[in-house]
Amino acid sequence: MPDASIVYLDHAATTPARPEAVAAMLPYLSQSYGNPSGAHAMARAARDAIDDARVVLADALGCRPGEIVFTSGGTEADNTAVFGRAGRGTVVCSAIEHHAVLEPVRHCAGRVVPVHPSGVIDLDALADALDEGVSLVSVMLANNEIGTIQPLDEVAEVVRARAPRAVLHTDAVQAFPWLDVASLAAPADLVSISAHKFGGLKGNGVLVVRDGVDLEPRQIGGGQERERRSGTQNVAGIVAMAEAAQLTVAERKQVVDAVTPRRDRLADGLLAVPGTVESGDRRIKVAGNCHVCFDGVESEALLFLLEEAGIMASAASSCASGAQDPSHVLAALGFPRSLAGGSLRLSLGPSTTDADVDRALDVLPGAVRRLRELGS
Ligand code: PLP
Repeated sequence: MPDASIVYLDHAATTPARPEAVAAMLPYLSQSYGNPSGAHAMARAARDAIDDARVVLADALGCRPGEIVFTSGGTEADNTAVFGRAGRGTVVCSAIEHHAVLEPVRHCAGRVVPVHPSGVIDLDALADALDEGVSLVSVMLANNEIGTIQPLDEVAEVVRARAPRAVLHTDAVQAFPWLDVASLAAPADLVSISAHKFGGLKGNGVLVVRDGVDLEPRQIGGGQERERRSGTQNVAGIVAMAEAAQLTVAERKQVVDAVTPRRDRLADGLLAVPGTVESGDRRIKVAGNCHVCFDGVESEALLFLLEEAGIMASAASSCASGAQDPSHVLAALGFPRSLAGGSLRLSLGPSTTDADVDRALDVLPGAVRRLRELGS
């Protein structure tokens, strides 16, 4: 059981597994544990389970079941998209992509397109970055730090006009809990999601590869996933992901309606603290994202005080080291380093309550004041 005294405001980092997802997957760990590539009855049962999951996820993502490629998460889906096209020409992405896109693009000497201070891609700069030699453009649907939603339709128009050979990839990892990805990602040829952001397990994701898209596989071997991603599938995790996706889609509108006013109250309450700046335009953020910067405060010290008060939050995106490097997203928005150094992401989820918001609003102004007095 989670500790009731904890206020968890880090849903963009990860979410608790949904009990229904855990219940759905358990039989595939100890009863129907066959290898889905095998020929006997237990193998067929496992294969049927992932095929059923494919149908559910295809419905949630607006694609055909055969276009679903199971991966080990969002990072693998993103890497597969970028590296899978890098041999065909230049790869291009926005400056606020998750590192799972940005690092492969940099690794392949690709181009990085700036964003406006509102947190939205600069479409003129995108047009300038494109030409006939571009093989992939990757623009995320919603940002993981500041939550801003990108105009994918307009991006697709620019790509079609300026780089007709390019495929469009969108990282919808942070969008899926909040937005109708099936329709919003329709212009994209490749779409990434990650199960642990919506009540599934860590280590499970999907890359949608639309029929006809030419993508070099990154992982070769047994030829699973129609040769697009070899390796024995994580059957139980896939079953859990499908269950979580189905519930997420069914409850999405209700969750967004409940979370938006809580997020707004939280953000407005924090903006009442002098020297606080909200990052990105809230009108185009996903419902769960509250992101602010406190001038003259060190994020790390603030997170320490919040943790002491039982509040789990984050400064920028979660990375393996936990190190608080200056955020590339805030830098791309034009935030000076001094302000970006005081960033705080509070990310709400379906289970966030009014009492959680009250607690954060009780604790934060005092914590910020204390750190400023100490000259952190
Ligand atoms: N893309 C975005 C936008 C993310 O927020 C994350 C996770 O933080 C990832 C990709 C990576 O997903 P995973 O943790 O499943 O590798």
